[in-house]
Amino acid sequence: MTSFTTLPNMETGLHERDRAGVQDFVLLENYQSDEAFIENLKKRFKEDLIYTYIGQVLISVNPYKQLPIYSDAHVKAYRNKHFYEMPPHVFAVTDNAFRSLIEENRGQCVLISGESGSGKTEASKKVLQFIAACSGNQTTVEGVKDKLLKSNPVLEAFGNAKTNRNDNSSRFGKYMDIQFDFKGAPVGGNILNYLLEKSRVVAQMGGERNFHIFYQLLAGADETLLQELRLERALDRYSYLTDGLNGSVTSINDAESFKQVQQALSVIDFSKEEQRDIFGIVASILHLGNIGFNEVEGNAKVKSRDLVVTAARLLGVNASELEAALTHRTIDARGDVVTSPLNQELAIYARDALSKAVYDRLFSWLVQRLNISLQAKEVRGGRNNVMGILDIYGFEIFQKNSLEQFCINFCNEKLQQLFIELTLKSEQDEYRREGIEWIPVEYFDNKVICNLIEEKHKGIISILDEECLRPGEPSDKTFLEKLTQKLSLHHHYVCHEKAPAHIKKIMLRDEFRLVHYAGEVTYSVNGFLDKNNDLLFRDLKETLSKAGNGIVRSCFPEKELRSLKRPETAITQFRASLNNLMDILMCKEPSYIRCIKPNDLQTATIFNDELVLHQVKYLGLMENLRVRRAGFAYRRTYDLFLERYKPLSKSTWPNYKGPGGSKAGVQQLVKDLGWDEEKFRVGETKLFIRWPRTLFDTEDAYQAK
Ligand code: ADP
Ligand code: MG
Repeated sequence: MTSFTTLPNMETGLHERDRAGVQDFVLLENYQSDEAFIENLKKRFKEDLIYTYIGQVLISVNPYKQLPIYSDAHVKAYRNKHFYEMPPHVFAVTDNAFRSLIEENRGQCVLISGESGSGKTEASKKVLQFIAACSGNQTTVEGVKDKLLKSNPVLEAFGNAKTNRNDNSSRFGKYMDIQFDFKGAPVGGNILNYLLEKSRVVAQMGGERNFHIFYQLLAGADETLLQELRLERALDRYSYLTDGLNGSVTSINDAESFKQVQQALSVIDFSKEEQRDIFGIVASILHLGNIGFNEVEGNAKVKSRDLVVTAARLLGVNASELEAALTHRTIDARGDVVTSPLNQELAIYARDALSKAVYDRLFSWLVQRLNISLQAKEVRGGRNNVMGILDIYGFEIFQKNSLEQFCINFCNEKLQQLFIELTLKSEQDEYRREGIEWIPVEYFDNKVICNLIEEKHKGIISILDEECLRPGEPSDKTFLEKLTQKLSLHHHYVCHEKAPAHIKKIMLRDEFRLVHYAGEVTYSVNGFLDKNNDLLFRDLKETLSKAGNGIVRSCFPEKELRSLKRPETAITQFRASLNNLMDILMCKEPSYIRCIKPNDLQTATIFNDELVLHQVKYLGLMENLRVRRAGFAYRRTYDLFLERYKPLSKSTWPNYKGPGGSKAGVQQLVKDLGWDEEKFRVGETKLFIRWPRTLFDTEDAYQAK
């Protein structure tokens, strides 16, 4: 256990400010300077102080090494403390939220953002750790906590993969609600998942892997299970695993992880049969990937029937039917049913679409199944006793950006919009509550970009859907033409023709560019229509709807086939789930954790100024600070302020005895200190100080005493 010497008594942290910078950016004197901002983060990073505040917002810099700051002793130390009494920490944020939840009965959410590899998922686990450690320990609660904690390894096995940015990168967005009873004990939970990167199932970039579970199964399954699934351990036997990285990764122990997944599945009471079905599906996908096709007179023919038979057995479908479905396409045009053979290229397309769809729906099924298991038996705390944790992909700018990046960046625009509404609003509310004159602050409202993307009939999403659904021969190219035709005058849309010369140079003809709040991104329209249509041929759906594998059958319900409505496009589904998320978050009190990665090498020692500045900019942190600082740098309740600084005046030492309590005491104190009017304001419950210098001088006087 760590000794408490790592937890200095830092009621304000101010005495540390030279060695380790300021622990709250509002105390940075040169607060509009990028360099000063980065310098402060860097100073602290070098001292292993990875957390810093901007007011109530927590900034976390990934240390890329284990720090001794998450022990039980630390949990205890942060429990029931005033937010600013202790050094910045994810536990402080969690404790603060947890207490608002219990004491004020206000729903909470912890919003974690940052780019891939910045530490979002680790932060979300610390939040969960803190909650689990400091909430009741009756046996009923233990069961719930165990399931909440165990849901992580399962979701990570199926939803995470090694990428070039992060060995354990989440390839889906996650929102988890934890429900508490009136005493603050967790009684249930619910998970929402967003946009799994299913294209990874069939292809990976150089140096990357498929989802962890494939490797875990091959490395960790015992001989009997392998036999049953007709699998061999060698990774290079499977074409879906040989695209990117052939082999294992030192930071990952697949066999060990498989044991943990199996154990977790048991704790979350998945039945033996369900477990068999799950691994059957995973194995079937590996077999599907190995199915090759010949082409005879334009018709695709399966190369090795064995593989089809094996995959069919694992999915519980008829092998001949699967073979036919992989090589034919039936179109039902208003009752006119026509079946035509596929060529080799289309058969491969159909096969991969099948693998992706099966995996994607398996993942959603897993989440649903976890939710059934996490459901609260009875809720006595009322509906508000919920704390949400959002761990979702950050803004992405790659060399090539496609529909996936478009969705992810759209999601970040929406979250920024929420951030603006909630933080500026809460800032305003605080001033109003405290009876202090509100000074409006200029800031960039990204609503205009959200509208550009999602406005009905006019936005990019509508134009894309229209193009996807239109008869004739829509293509990525016609989609781009429509965009340009309709949006070329928009300030945040840049098309090739009208781009300024230096941009035109770096843009291709099949690209468009958006000016996001966080920076400019060029998107290639290649594949937009295909991905948005997300077509799985009807023959395959029909085959799967009759599957003997129970999970497969429930993932491809027959009623979907019978429905005459066209299935919603991928982006429309995504927009609907995002808007639903916004509604959920909107009525909660937010806490923010903004994660930053110090370098691209996943190493503990390097702090890359340029890389960090880039993230600081697109997380909007400078803006955040500016807004927070616009009025007052520092605010503290009268009780806390008086308790610390009362030695500085005879009238308050050892105690203020006059009428009016601590508020009057503080007013007397600052009068004795000779502060002039401009330096501060007196609110209802708090003292507001305009400049950091005032506070530093006070702290120095205190230290000198
Ligand atoms: P993200 O979810 O933002 O993509 P992760 O949370 O998966 O990033 O973090 C990537 C890796 O960085 C982790 O696997 C871990 O090795 C390291 N890491 C992140 N946060 C911490 C932390 N607080 N302490 C130690 N290591 C961390
Ligand atoms: Mg993650």
